[in-house]
Amino acid sequence: MQTAIATVCLSGVLDEKLEAIAAAGFKGVELFENDLLSFSGTPADVRRIVEGLGLTIVTFQPFRDFEGMPENRRERIFQRAERKFRVMEELGCDLLMVCSNVSPESVGGIDRAAADLHALGERAAAHGFRVGFEALSWGSHIHDYRDAWEAVRRADHAAIGLVLDSFHILARKTDLKAIRSIPPDRIFLVQLADAPLLDMDYLSWSRHYRSFPGQGDLALPEFMDALQATGYDGILSLEIFNDEFRSGSARNVAVDGHRSLIFMMDQMRARTGATIAGTKPLPPRARCLGTEFIEFAMDERTAPRLESLLSGLGFVEAGHHRSKSVTRWNQGGINLVINTEKEGFAHAFNVTHGTSICAIGLRMEDAATCVERADRLLIAPFRQPVGPGELEIPAVRGLGGSLLYFIDPRSELARVWDVEFDPVKNAKPERAAGLATVDHISQSMHYEELLTWLLFYTSLFDLSKTPQLDVLDPDGLVKSQVVQSADGALRIALNASQSSRTQSSKFLSEAFGSGVQHIAFATGDIFAAVERIRANGVELLDIPENYYDDLEAKTDLAPEFLDRLKADNVLYERDGTGEYFQAYTRTFDGRFFFEIVERRGGYRGFGASNAQIRLTAQASAARSEDGLRAALR
Ligand code: MG
Ligand code: MG
Repeated sequence: MQTAIATVCLSGVLDEKLEAIAAAGFKGVELFENDLLSFSGTPADVRRIVEGLGLTIVTFQPFRDFEGMPENRRERIFQRAERKFRVMEELGCDLLMVCSNVSPESVGGIDRAAADLHALGERAAAHGFRVGFEALSWGSHIHDYRDAWEAVRRADHAAIGLVLDSFHILARKTDLKAIRSIPPDRIFLVQLADAPLLDMDYLSWSRHYRSFPGQGDLALPEFMDALQATGYDGILSLEIFNDEFRSGSARNVAVDGHRSLIFMMDQMRARTGATIAGTKPLPPRARCLGTEFIEFAMDERTAPRLESLLSGLGFVEAGHHRSKSVTRWNQGGINLVINTEKEGFAHAFNVTHGTSICAIGLRMEDAATCVERADRLLIAPFRQPVGPGELEIPAVRGLGGSLLYFIDPRSELARVWDVEFDPVKNAKPERAAGLATVDHISQSMHYEELLTWLLFYTSLFDLSKTPQLDVLDPDGLVKSQVVQSADGALRIALNASQSSRTQSSKFLSEAFGSGVQHIAFATGDIFAAVERIRANGVELLDIPENYYDDLEAKTDLAPEFLDRLKADNVLYERDGTGEYFQAYTRTFDGRFFFEIVERRGGYRGFGASNAQIRLTAQASAARSEDGLRAALR
């Protein structure tokens, strides 16, 4: 199958869109008439640009309000079609796309639509052109692909074929069985779009909320399997109307689109055993075994305060880099790396973003395969000069320009701490708080980036996504979605907010971009951990008493147990037999914070019912700190 994308998906003017489409590796493009009308060149100029970029215009669209019009309007409609054909001659495009009629003047009846399509087929064939007919989900009479197919079948003209659009079919939950019996040569084009499940009219849903395959909730795998059963091997074209995409970078959105198609076709191949001409299977989705390290970029002035916080959380200074100003802090299976170098990637990151997390090292089952899969998914590798005695750790660019390193226990990379670091002897094990692993990493991003990173993580790694949640920050709504592996070895929470005043958004403006906002450490005994941390001199986020009164009313927890939660500022959530305990540090320099969590009884969530309490406690802590600073000035 060949891939294409509609110009309507992207921001910019036509030539910019076409350049972005070609740069993302597409060979085909659907040209929207409005993009042509708003372009200052002629159709022949567009043809030259398209051909110069190695692209083909797979269809020209849309041709609206065609079938079933009253007799006195028909001739004008055919004249309108002739004008489109003349434009198509100049464009070098041979397929006109007709959407089912939404005009209140139109009259129903499959035979009538078929007769109109036959007549249009005669005129198209005279130019050597073809016409594809699509059922819009809000069409006046034809809004079901089965009726569109019946009209095409009865039109019985070689120049008339069907266009299948996954959105229109899946949004109405139309049965997919009938797709399987459509002859593949009668399907002239397949348009793909996903979308979140929303309760709204089809038109608004389609025009604003479509997304790339895999970013939404529609039954695209089932649609693709039905299509595969026909033997169709024509064009798969992305037709996405999405407000965020049209305000984002055309280049990035085009790459996301191509990545979504590569991923979707590969999954279909894996499910159905189909062979797809011209492509070989991707290496399997990369399995992550855990977080090996998290790297902080900071200056020498700031580092001692973070080190003091880490020491209070029970981490020990475990090693110094042999040639760089880089320190490893360790506790259990957690490694935190503090980089205060004055050159290189971390320094550049620190200059741009301030004190921040500049890299995450993931322990992969197979790092080499992961890099190969990344490359096939159009994710560029990151390389930097490697000093003497240092290992080259494969990496790609992650969120906000940060790095994702891949460490592999079977390779030399597993020994990075021994190879690159001198051990420190002055460890103080009595301060250890029993923090064992990284439970999850929470990233804040601009709203329009959420779908990009959702696709990035789920296409590269063996992760699944949870439903999107709305979390109430005292200053606005935050959308939150988690990607996680089945065994919980990697869990990443993605948070995005459109309000500029939420803590998620303040993080973005203060950090000059998206990034890690909090890291949760897992412990087997949260009460012991919190007490040790307090004894080490670290103050945790204060949770209001009202929370515990409410918890008492909602649960059957014993009073002594509730007292303990309250005394330790531990939040609690129950889900079936699972239980979740959470405590938070204060925010470090207004940038990031740490969470300590304990999961019991197979709990799989993230304490959603507590998120608003935590955000409000943080907002009031931030306000009192601001007040204190103002008073001291
Ligand atoms: Mg369509
Ligand atoms: Mg959390």
